[in-house]
Amino acid sequence: MAKKLIVQKFGGSSVANVERIQNVAKRVADYKKKGNDVVVVVSALGDTTDELITLAGQVTNEPSEREMDMLLSTGEQISVALLAMALHKLKCQAISFTGAQVGIITDKSHTRARIVKINCDKIKEELKKGRVVIVAGFQGVTPEQDITTLGRGGSDLTAVALAKELSADECEIYTDVEGIYTTDPRIEPKAKKLAEITYDEMLEMASLGAQVMQARSIEVAKKFDVPIHVRSSFSANSGTMIIKEAKRMEDVLVNGITLNKGEAKITICDVPDKPGIAAKIFKELALVGVSVDMIVQNVSHLRSTDISFTVNKPGLAKGIKITKSLAKEIGAGEVLQDEDIARVSIVGVGMKSHPGVAANMFGTLAKEKINIEMISTSDISISCIIQKKFAEIAVKALHEEFGLSK
Ligand code: ASP
Ligand code: MG
Repeated sequence: MAKKLIVQKFGGSSVANVERIQNVAKRVADYKKKGNDVVVVVSALGDTTDELITLAGQVTNEPSEREMDMLLSTGEQISVALLAMALHKLKCQAISFTGAQVGIITDKSHTRARIVKINCDKIKEELKKGRVVIVAGFQGVTPEQDITTLGRGGSDLTAVALAKELSADECEIYTDVEGIYTTDPRIEPKAKKLAEITYDEMLEMASLGAQVMQARSIEVAKKFDVPIHVRSSFSANSGTMIIKEAKRMEDVLVNGITLNKGEAKITICDVPDKPGIAAKIFKELALVGVSVDMIVQNVSHLRSTDISFTVNKPGLAKGIKITKSLAKEIGAGEVLQDEDIARVSIVGVGMKSHPGVAANMFGTLAKEKINIEMISTSDISISCIIQKKFAEIAVKALHEEFGLSK
């Protein structure tokens, strides 16, 4: 067998404790023994990143973003060192590096930095010496030598970017599930593992709430056409390939159902219906960093209208504060909030060329007597906001309706 260059990324749950780290080491050593070159990217142990964020919050509620990155990057530094030691114990040559050490250069936007370039010389040198190269995920460094992080879940991005830069033969993302499923198996036990999924579908699913991979990492994979194999670190089974075009029967319209309970709805009543009002509202929200997702504005009859939109729950308090003061300023009415909502979505490239998929989705929800509060669509997805208490029923009904339970 020809020698391959493989990039393997292990998520936090795959290295949550010593036993699991040893497990990962065994897998890595096996690949290496077969004669492959292996570059390993690791996340912080278990919930380390969350714990560090909590810790910072106990010191101040306004930590500097630069210091936040300094703090969070330590999580991954622990994992790489421990994994290197575990490999040494297996008599497998390995060396660990921080993002800065392997030349992952980013811009200066702390806590969500973008990779500008990667200088892979060091990695190549070490591979040549026959070592497994272990790289701390989720981090880089600015040209001024300040440590940065790449946004939550950013180790995926490190892995994809390295795979691209090294022209790796394979990029494997190891996680605690067997791959990408038609829906969350904890909600619908009939959910099936998909053999393949396209970048576009995966991007859609990631942004709609399926938390398997960081959305930005899939954007980069798509841009440079890096095929990704998402699989479990707890089994030898193959997982799901994320690729450009899936070989699929034509009649597959919907490939996945996602559920997101992480949003809340804000409604501004009686907004004056004149140019510039929506621009003002959403500009102010953007300025304070509240990212808005779905927006619905009704047709006005009496020169005023209601505007509803969803925000991520952590942004709700800020969003409400801004919206209330804006409402006064523009002469609008009451501001309402609803945290008990859920977004259910159907995703599939097949729906592009098939009319009637939306009607089918709405009909399925109607049959379950579930009221649809907001709707949004893209090329390859349709989302409905419904009351949270119906979320699971909706997912199951849609999973059945679109033939995914078979
Ligand atoms: N440890 C970081 C996080 O939890 C990066 C990652 O896991 O990919 O977000
Ligand atoms: Mg993590």
